[in-house]
Amino acid sequence: MAETLQKGTLYVVATPIGNLGDISTRAAWVLAGVDRVLAEDTRQTRRLLEHLDLHKTLTPLHEHNEDRQLATVLDWLRGGEMLALVSDAGTPLISDPGFALVRAAREQGLPLVTIPGASAVTAALAVAGLPTDRFVFEGFLPPKAGARRRALEALGRETRTMVFYESPRRVAGALADMAGAFGDARVAVVARELTKAHEQSVQGTLVELADQVADGRIPLKGEFVLMVSGAEAEAGGLDVEVDHLLTQLMTRLSVSDAARMAARITGQGRSGLYQRALAMQNRE
Ligand code: SAM
Repeated sequence: MAETLQKGTLYVVATPIGNLGDISTRAAWVLAGVDRVLAEDTRQTRRLLEHLDLHKTLTPLHEHNEDRQLATVLDWLRGGEMLALVSDAGTPLISDPGFALVRAAREQGLPLVTIPGASAVTAALAVAGLPTDRFVFEGFLPPKAGARRRALEALGRETRTMVFYESPRRVAGALADMAGAFGDARVAVVARELTKAHEQSVQGTLVELADQVADGRIPLKGEFVLMVSGAEAEAGGLDVEVDHLLTQLMTRLSVSDAARMAARITGQGRSGLYQRALAMQNRE
């Protein structure tokens, strides 16, 4: 490398999301040269370092000790140590620890260098076939069903591609709630086990994807990224038309039947329309 490592610098280093071959030459060079590696799970990072034939001092830095460790780590940096921060997989700080440390280092004017590489969000988007000119990364949805539904409803009019991380236990529930919030016919992608032996990236409507999960064509094993295409940008008068449609339907139907019917007619999500119809009824 023409570059030299700088004393007192925190290197934030991306590591592979499954396939160890995805470590970059520069990341390996930084890991070889630093005084110490701050690792989310030292056992996991040890495997990566063994693959690179490196023997380094590893210090745990995870969500449970990050605040406590902060002062010590900042002292090491001020004392001139060169440190690498890694997480278990992908880019640190992306749904992973590191934010408190990076913020504190920046506040104290300590040098930071990014060593980019894999992240599940960009890996998943790269082959999803959904628009990537603008997207919104939502991280993990709330684990509880009610909070998850509210979070999805708040995204009802989002026009950018939406990206979510999800645990295999919650994929089926998340797809069902997404269909409720965005409509059955919204196009989405389920990406699973990227860069690993059982890699899958399947595009379909939310209902088609839910079916593939239910019949096992998409097994609920491994790591998942869910992506949902954004809503059509609303033409100026559409809100008024939807409200008018709901008003007319509610003269003959219950709020929930009116919302169901309006969802069929407009292609919008049932639960978003239901909330809107309820609000209209309460205003009367
Ligand atoms: N920092 C990581 C990154 O840059 O992508 C993310 C860490 S987060 C704790 C772990 C989540 O990322 C998993 O639950 C899954 O949603 C997603 N993920 C990580 N590796 C993946 C892979 N190989 N395939 C699909 N999703 C993955």
